[in-house]
Amino acid sequence: MLKRSTGLALLIALSLFIFITAAKTLHFNTDKVLARPQQTAAVEKVLLPPAKPLPAPVLYGIPTDSMEIVEGTVERGESLSAILSSYNISPVTLHALARKSRQVFNVRRIASHRNYTILHLRDSAQTAQYFIYEPNEVEYVIYDLRGDLAVTKEKRKVEVLERTLAGEITSSLFESMVAAGGSPQLVNRFADIYAWRLDLNRIQPGDKFKLIYDEKVVNGSSIGFGELKAAFFEHEGDSIYAIAFKEGNSNGYYDQNGKSLKKAFLREPLEYSRISSRYSKNRFHPVQKRYKAHLGTDFAARSGTPIRTVGDGLVLEARYTRGNGYFVKIKHNKTYTTQYLHMSRFAKGIRRGVHVKQGQTIGYVGSTGLATGPHLCYRFWKNGRQVDALKVKLPSGFPISNKHRTAFREVKKEVLRKMGNQPQDAGEEPLIATKKEKDPAEA
Ligand SMILES: [Zn+2]
Repeated sequence: MLKRSTGLALLIALSLFIFITAAKTLHFNTDKVLARPQQTAAVEKVLLPPAKPLPAPVLYGIPTDSMEIVEGTVERGESLSAILSSYNISPVTLHALARKSRQVFNVRRIASHRNYTILHLRDSAQTAQYFIYEPNEVEYVIYDLRGDLAVTKEKRKVEVLERTLAGEITSSLFESMVAAGGSPQLVNRFADIYAWRLDLNRIQPGDKFKLIYDEKVVNGSSIGFGELKAAFFEHEGDSIYAIAFKEGNSNGYYDQNGKSLKKAFLREPLEYSRISSRYSKNRFHPVQKRYKAHLGTDFAARSGTPIRTVGDGLVLEARYTRGNGYFVKIKHNKTYTTQYLHMSRFAKGIRRGVHVKQGQTIGYVGSTGLATGPHLCYRFWKNGRQVDALKVKLPSGFPISNKHRTAFREVKKEVLRKMGNQPQDAGEEPLIATKKEKDPAEA
């Protein structure tokens, strides 16, 4: 009796299920027809051949017909063995896989918040066949868990599309650019480029901006911006362009007159420090106990603090003397040379004849030579004379060299065209307007 009523209940439940499913499908179809424009409604009535079952999708190049697809995101602190714990993979297999993965993508590097996919058999144990991990939007690692195990890393195709963005400042730079469709990263890049030339705290409503940049697209969705090729900013009627241009082997941004947007020198060679002794023609030397000129600026800092070169240049000397200790001397151009004393050691690769880039670490603070404690003695030469690095008027960015001027003019013309700006409002030519400062031009 009991059995029979259960059977009956099941039957009723089943018919109910079929009825609901059918109703749902019907409802769905009605929606679809209604959503279409009138004139195509007639087409709907044509009899369609019976639908073929959809082929199983091919994921990561793997046909999935005999498998189930499980997609997930790695949780905090989750390891591969935890992720695969309910997919019938033995500890021995995991161990072998970990070893095999080392050369390609170590399973230990699997990080939280990244996506993964498990393809498992439709057996009762749900035996995993593949584990696919995505360390970033472009790459994916296939851990083939079958037989001999195999680990391969693949890359998706990245499309690069050129985009333009234009707008007006209504509130902050950040809000205005994001409102115009820019990403926070793009705004930061823009701010970095203009930081030397514009006080971004002083921008005002009504200021205008335009950007040309590359966007990287994978599978139809954006994964971020690529190169920022050019920008334009109009502040209180003044236009400043930033045009990416490659001079020899260094990339930089130049304004419409071909002048670098960057300053030629950083003001200080240490990021965080305290000035302990200024440049002076006459000071009491703490070690030698007598009055003599101190033609440098001392920065007190912890031993080991990285020392940056204030500008691009060529290492003239990287050696040791009794007075200076370990020191580096850099020639930036015919006019300017800087020197960094009492280092504990040089940075890797720093030796005579090497080219360095502005901001590059060249050594570390120490107290070698005649020094009472860890500090950097920083010296600045202008036309062969030692001057006060904190007072010398630093040249603004270097202009494009003669050799590259024609090429730059072409790039600039193209940028103006793309931005839809008239050449006139770019402050046409004279490409070199900066001979006054004498020489930084002749780097
Ligand atoms: Zn000093």
